[in-house]
Amino acid sequence: MSPSDPKIGISQSHAILIPLPIQGHINPMMQLAWKLVSHGFLITFVNTETNHQRIIKANKDQSLHDSSDMIRMVSVADGLAPDDSHSFVVKFFAEVENALGPSVIDKLIRNINEKEGDQKVSCIVADVWTCFGLHTVAKLHHISLAVFNTSLVSNFAIRYFSPKLVSLGILPSDGIPKEDKTKKYLSSLPPLKSAHLPWLYGGEDMFRHAIRMVKEINKIEWVIFNTFYEQEPVVLDELSKEMSVFPIGPLISPDFLDGDRNTERRLVPSLLKPEAECLEWLEKQAEQSVIYVSFGSYAALNKLQMEELSVALEATHRPFLWVVRSDTMDSCQSVFSPGFMERIIDRGCIVSWAPQLRVLSHPAIACFVTHCGWNSVQESITMGVPMLCWPYFADQFLNSTYIVDVWKVGLALNANNNGLIEREEFTKAIERLLVAEEGTAIREEMRKMNKIARDTVKEGGSSSNNFKLFLNAITKRVN
Ligand code: UDP
Repeated sequence: MSPSDPKIGISQSHAILIPLPIQGHINPMMQLAWKLVSHGFLITFVNTETNHQRIIKANKDQSLHDSSDMIRMVSVADGLAPDDSHSFVVKFFAEVENALGPSVIDKLIRNINEKEGDQKVSCIVADVWTCFGLHTVAKLHHISLAVFNTSLVSNFAIRYFSPKLVSLGILPSDGIPKEDKTKKYLSSLPPLKSAHLPWLYGGEDMFRHAIRMVKEINKIEWVIFNTFYEQEPVVLDELSKEMSVFPIGPLISPDFLDGDRNTERRLVPSLLKPEAECLEWLEKQAEQSVIYVSFGSYAALNKLQMEELSVALEATHRPFLWVVRSDTMDSCQSVFSPGFMERIIDRGCIVSWAPQLRVLSHPAIACFVTHCGWNSVQESITMGVPMLCWPYFADQFLNSTYIVDVWKVGLALNANNNGLIEREEFTKAIERLLVAEEGTAIREEMRKMNKIARDTVKEGGSSSNNFKLFLNAITKRVN
């Protein structure tokens, strides 16, 4: 796929954006919203009621409606308690389908379209996990429908091709390999341990749900990815034989790409309130000295892992910024070694939620200890920060394989037989990354990848061209 430079002419369009209601899917969907707005779109951004309230609470200082007249945040009932988003996997996905199903979206579109003087809805962009049944709604209203895959393309591809892998006998029909082997499931993918297949955390049910998702995707014409072509060219070429793919990433606010990290003008729809004080702390640290540690919005270390990590961080004798979410802090505070908080006061900063993009773009950051959530990976690449990989579940092992073995922009943290990353492993990995020659080579690879990531969204870059092609596709007349 080599995108040309298409001419586009767009009258005002109105898109309904439907993210999966979890942080790692809401963030890139909001970045997509801003991108569409900059091309003249009006956006209706659909959150579940629980998340809507959480976003309002966490962003009290920043009015949701002031951020742009062009993005309207609406909510639909979900019947969830605020912390229910953690009742995961199948129950969660069933609730999502209920809350954001075709009848709800149909009603929303009718309500919007009935309002006098309002721009009628012209297209829907749904997360791959919220697209169930929406092709019927799009058909009913004669509007376009695209899906957005917010993870690595290879993660999408292995799910997409899984029915074929079952029919070839490469995967058992329940999707759960009986022995732990490392193999190439697809010729376009690096070898993967069977224990790291992305649906295994949810077992057979999750595999079945993934297959349902594939059937649904086959009814939809356009798929966009928060990836750039140069990141996964082979698998993108393979997928493009099956569907229209648009790699348009990395979807990062231009506030950061333009280098003015202190004047973030666009709403970041955080479900938790970021502790901006850590930026003041970062200002006092030397350039490229700080280890940033964060496991995203869902992954949670157990007590033993927390304790070992606290000892390991102390043993590096380096400054660190560690995000310990309050839902994990409450159960883990007691595990820090006695006097830990007092001892690290001069060189450690612990927050319950960080303004992550601002942190990663800060010159004091030396490396990112990450669970390898796809947004964190793309953010780290776009800010040029090398990674230490500590994957937790789902697609994170596959992401880690790409970071370490394919792009060579980070190192793996290897757990012992009990799943624990021991202090010696951690401190050695930090020294390998920040001091040894190996680290110099990794930083050089990261510098190259960072440049490609930034160039690709500029005029003439592959993601920029793909975005124009995507706009052309969704704004063409639908009958
Ligand atoms: N994030 C943040 N502050 C934090 C931790 C995470 O703003 O303290 C953001 C991060 O920038 C990313 C998202 O939350 O956009 C997490 O998504 P990711 O895919 O990395 O992981 P997930 O939460 O889905 O596991």
